[in-house]
Amino acid sequence: MTRILHRSLRQTPPVAVGGAGVYLYDSHGRSYLDASGGAAVSSLGHGHPDVIAAMHRQIDQCAYAHTAFFTTEVAEQLADRLVANAPAGIEGVYLVSGGSEAMETALKLARQYFVEGGESKRSLFIARRQSYHGNTLGALAVGGNEWRRQPFAPLLIDVERVSACYEYRGRAEDQTVDQYTAMLLDELEAAILQAGPDRVIAFCAEPVVGATGGAIPPTPGYFRGVRALCDKYGILFIADEVMCGMGRTGTMYAIEQDGVAPDLIAVAKGLGAGYQPIGAVLVNGAIIERLRAGSGAFLHGHTYIGHPVAAAAALAVQQVIERDDLLTQVRLRGAQLRAMLDEEFEDHPHVGDIRGRGLFLALELVRERADKTPFAPELKLHAAIKARAMENGLLVYPMGGTIDGRHGDHVLLAPPFVVTQGD
Ligand code: PLP
Repeated sequence: MTRILHRSLRQTPPVAVGGAGVYLYDSHGRSYLDASGGAAVSSLGHGHPDVIAAMHRQIDQCAYAHTAFFTTEVAEQLADRLVANAPAGIEGVYLVSGGSEAMETALKLARQYFVEGGESKRSLFIARRQSYHGNTLGALAVGGNEWRRQPFAPLLIDVERVSACYEYRGRAEDQTVDQYTAMLLDELEAAILQAGPDRVIAFCAEPVVGATGGAIPPTPGYFRGVRALCDKYGILFIADEVMCGMGRTGTMYAIEQDGVAPDLIAVAKGLGAGYQPIGAVLVNGAIIERLRAGSGAFLHGHTYIGHPVAAAAALAVQQVIERDDLLTQVRLRGAQLRAMLDEEFEDHPHVGDIRGRGLFLALELVRERADKTPFAPELKLHAAIKARAMENGLLVYPMGGTIDGRHGDHVLLAPPFVVTQGD
């Protein structure tokens, strides 16, 4: 009997013993094509020699130094590089250990920004129904996933929720894409006005929705509209790029493709690409300046912020992406994979939608294509698909969930950027 409390307390997963490129191997000698990079994590595949060598060098030089006493060259270099490639206005980076921590940090930074500006009354976040922002209490509160939130509801901060930009489900047949986008922006503005604009801290959204819906891209102009509303009411815009960021959609940040600069951006997963647990919050200069001139400190901190070995891994990942021009690869392979999915599944009776950006693609599964009726939740279709795929040596990331009382199933594909057409 295992002593680890695994994700399922009833089943122990296979034992992973190795990995090379896009493949993972278990202790029974089975190999798995990792077509989802775990949960959109392993962007460079497994066993990448350059990332491993960078980690070895850092371990030999300085494996750990607490940030209350020291900084390290490698963490400084990583921060410089992330800022250099970030959307306009980003001037600093707060390094953490994962995605939930990054979102938790972004929420607190946003609140402290207003407290130090004399606007303590601002205490409310607005977020979207199709969203996952993490499992710690703050991040869980802003996420849209009811079944995850419900048992912990009494412990969570109040969050206003609006519709996500989810064209397949949300746009009426007689609506143009522009009309649909305008409707969503009207809904967001109404939510801001209803809450009282001087009470709202920030609007949180995943630029391309990941786990809760499956690679749902925004409509053209949606995020420009969001930015305009945030500016109009003095609200911050937090982009959660934990899953869709770090090159996954073919640009370093997914939001670049929408021509918008958020105030705070959370990243993780592809930042360390699975080689080390690391996340980061990229922070707009105005926020940094207010805190620097005010209290002089961010009221936050974890023991492992700026961990040098994690920073070394993330820096190496950034260098490999640039050296090997992997963003171009993502666009190329993404288009190839998309074409393959279209060819294979376009007429499939149970595939309602095929969507995504770059190497971040998903199939939404439906019982009835004509009226988009989902499968019954009791079927646990996502679990069956995952198990069947694994039996066949394939890792995909299927999810099922209930939002607004409606169940949905999708299969997410997020292969490593180094995948070949042969793979
Ligand atoms: N935000 C998004 C968009 C995510 O997809 C996830 C994880 O799936 C998180 C936050 C939480 O990240 P972590 O699991 O590293 O805490």
